[in-house]
Amino acid sequence: MISSKLPNVGTTIFTTMSQLAVQTGALNLSQGFPDFNGPQALLDAVGRHISAGHNQYSPMTGLPALRQQVAAKVARQYGVTVDADHEVTITPGATAAIFCAIHAVIRPGDEVIVFDPCYDSYEPAVELAGGRCVHVQLGADSFAIDWQKLSDALSPRTRMIVINSPHNPSGALITRAELDQLAALIADRDIYVLSDEVYEHLVYDGARHASVLAHEALYARAFVVSSFGKTYHVTGWKTGYVIAPPALSAELRKVHQYVNFCGVTPLQWALADFMAEHPEHVEELPAFYQAKRDLFCGLLQGSRFQFKPVAGTYFQLVDYSAIRPDLDDVQMSVWLTREHGVATIPVSVFYQQPIPEQRLVRLCFAKREETLRQAAEKLCAI
Ligand code: PMP
Ligand code: GLN
Repeated sequence: MISSKLPNVGTTIFTTMSQLAVQTGALNLSQGFPDFNGPQALLDAVGRHISAGHNQYSPMTGLPALRQQVAAKVARQYGVTVDADHEVTITPGATAAIFCAIHAVIRPGDEVIVFDPCYDSYEPAVELAGGRCVHVQLGADSFAIDWQKLSDALSPRTRMIVINSPHNPSGALITRAELDQLAALIADRDIYVLSDEVYEHLVYDGARHASVLAHEALYARAFVVSSFGKTYHVTGWKTGYVIAPPALSAELRKVHQYVNFCGVTPLQWALADFMAEHPEHVEELPAFYQAKRDLFCGLLQGSRFQFKPVAGTYFQLVDYSAIRPDLDDVQMSVWLTREHGVATIPVSVFYQQPIPEQRLVRLCFAKREETLRQAAEKLCAI
């Protein structure tokens, strides 16, 4: 008999729902990925670098040219200077970055505070490090931090707090004032912050993303994670990065060098070229995705789903209580996929203790206009 180190882990909801979409031929608005390609110049650059022989290991910390582009972007975006050599590490995806950051600092018996609904990869990483996640629920409608609940969850064992803004699955943003409040709450404690900012450029209605990178007190104790997959429409490239102060980056790199050693070399060359040649790409992303959000939400006005357009990410939550209140959200997602040809993600799976009366599913709008129109037509017919 195998004694599993992760007895509660099964197949993720993303795999389950994407498989069901394929099996049933449904439009797949479940797992978060675009159904369109990344920029042609970026794709072309990969081929060029593979042909040029950039196919061996890259430096453990990441290709210098790409680390410099990340530092330049961060300077433009948030007005902060990070040292490309000592504070930026390229990883094979944000997932690996998160895993390495957690393993760099979490020891057996440590507690890590996560906010529910919570992205699925944090807890297994914490458990494998011998730690324990303490789940704190976000506001049921606002998905904002409940400060009383957070301060109640702090203990002498708390070693890390994981925040995620823009937030998957709700699309909620953490404000600068909330970062201040968090910094004040943990000022006298030995607690690290893991800030998952993979949707940093997907922020709408003129709002600015409040990055931990631009918050001096929090950054001093933080790992800030992002993903080229989201930013450049290439989720399958699994290329991301961590920015952390030099001492934390050094610890992170000790783990990264044995888990991954390095990221995929030709992809890093291509990203470095593209970022140098097309700095406008990230500037244009908010408008690009906001147009998709507005199109999709506009079309869904004709449905019986209830929703408020999201503030960030490429996910829209919709409430289906006017349609099938008798179904829980997992049943609803299966029903929508099988009976109505649109695959969605139930929100309860992101909770340790789901809210029984909640009736929400998540729809990914990182899709071509044609896909969004077809999906909306199906959803409006219910
Ligand atoms: N964090 C969040 C909140 C995500 O939604 C994702 C998306 N897949 C990741 C991390 C992982 O990103 P990557 O695909 O670069 O590993
Ligand atoms: N982050 C993606 C989502 O939320 C899923 C990525 C994955 O399947 N691991 O849909």
